[in-house]
Amino acid sequence: MRFFRRSSKVAEADAPAGAPVAEADAAQLEEEVEQKTEQALQRTKRGFFGQITSLFDRGGDIEESLWEELEELLLASDTGLPTAQRILEEVRGRVEKERIKDAEQVRAVLKEALLEILNAPQPKGRLWTNGNGAAPPKPAVILVLGVNGTGKTTTIAKLARAYQAEGATALIAAGDTFRAAAIDQLKEWGERIGVDVVAHQPGADPGAVVFDALSAADGRGADVVIIDTAGRLHTKFNLMEELRKIRRVIERKEQSAPHEVLLVLDATTGQNALIQARAFTEAVEVTSVCLTKLDGTSKGGIVFAVCDQLGIPVRFVGTGEGPDDLAPFSAEAFVEALFR
Ligand code: GDP
Repeated sequence: MRFFRRSSKVAEADAPAGAPVAEADAAQLEEEVEQKTEQALQRTKRGFFGQITSLFDRGGDIEESLWEELEELLLASDTGLPTAQRILEEVRGRVEKERIKDAEQVRAVLKEALLEILNAPQPKGRLWTNGNGAAPPKPAVILVLGVNGTGKTTTIAKLARAYQAEGATALIAAGDTFRAAAIDQLKEWGERIGVDVVAHQPGADPGAVVFDALSAADGRGADVVIIDTAGRLHTKFNLMEELRKIRRVIERKEQSAPHEVLLVLDATTGQNALIQARAFTEAVEVTSVCLTKLDGTSKGGIVFAVCDQLGIPVRFVGTGEGPDDLAPFSAEAFVEALFR
């Protein structure tokens, strides 16, 4: 398993007795994540963040203009005002306290401040939180939310594929019954990646689709059920009611589920992504964020805004349009890539 925690079944089957599989796995996963993150951040690095890091290359004394330029560049990279200010305060505070005099040294302080922001959100979900070592629930239930066009369908397919690649059996529930195209698109993806899709007719009750999918998962012994939902934010009230109802259907079937509520946000929409996120979090508790199209933006600063202003951990980033273009989010890999 490269992507998620091994199901104990797969781990036992693959591992020779006593072999340090976990360690080798972790090292390889880390390398893959670094590579994907680095690739996805090419534009961001050529954009405003590149200018931020080169602010410090010139060295010399720290002047007021350095802080002004830093704030401007942070804002231009989409961190948003509150987050830009928080970063500046933290960095300036430490520079003063530690009597740092050289601009080049500020770079290291900035790096730490950025890392701190990315690591700040408390883990909320039950699947992708590191380290507790417990076997994942079966089936693991993932409810996926997001506005149409953000890349929700593609992300669901990528996730399902990642699970399958690790030996888990995934099942997709086509819970966006509002758009016929959404159902068709999921079915196409399902065929392409070899994952079953439970779907009803367009216009059917999404709750019924979810109920069927969960029953099918029980019947087939599926490891993970990934549930698509509608994303028409212009009828906000109805949508939020629908999401609450889907949640209730899931809870009635399995009290501990959904084990993750994944909100898909499009990195290229900047501050709009935050507005969408706030609308969703009012309706249901979001436990994780997937930030898509990171490869398509020069303003990677939105990642900091999501962590800082929403307090929800970013778990995945979309790094392209292909089925394998999804990377688990690593704060360390992200910040390293920005400054490399
Ligand atoms: P949905 O309406 O939210 O379900 O969005 P789709 O999954 O249909 O995606 C909308 C568009 O965004 C499609 O053209 C996808 O190929 C594209 N897309 C999704 N994720 C990514 C990503 O991480 N990177 C890039 N470059 N494109 C993406």
